[in-house]
Amino acid sequence: MPAEMARAGVTFSSAIGQQRPGCPRRGSRARRRSARKAALALLKRQHDLLEPLAAALGEAAAKLKTCSVCGNIDTREPCSICQDQRRDGRLIVVVEEVGDLWALERASVV
Ligand SMILES: [Zn+2]
Repeated sequence: MPAEMARAGVTFSSAIGQQRPGCPRRGSRARRRSARKAALALLKRQHDLLEPLAAALGEAAAKLKTCSVCGNIDTREPCSICQDQRRDGRLIVVVEEVGDLWALERASVV
């Protein structure tokens, strides 16, 4: 397991979705099985999949910023949405979380 994952508190059992004492079960059985299969595939292909993925996640974590204007997560500050000159700055859309904002962006409804 890469050192970055160990420093982040990722253990082998957490990576493959095994139940640990004192930890609540999350997700359906099918989702846990799917996550376990994905984790095992990564572990089997450590050099060509796991290590590049860990490096990419580390790079993304280092670059990500929370936009000081709207709270979006992006690599730019202010975020790409706030820097977009085509948007109407008088219009505000309130969402519960960033995932909802991204869903609206994918749907191109705002
Ligand atoms: Zn923003």
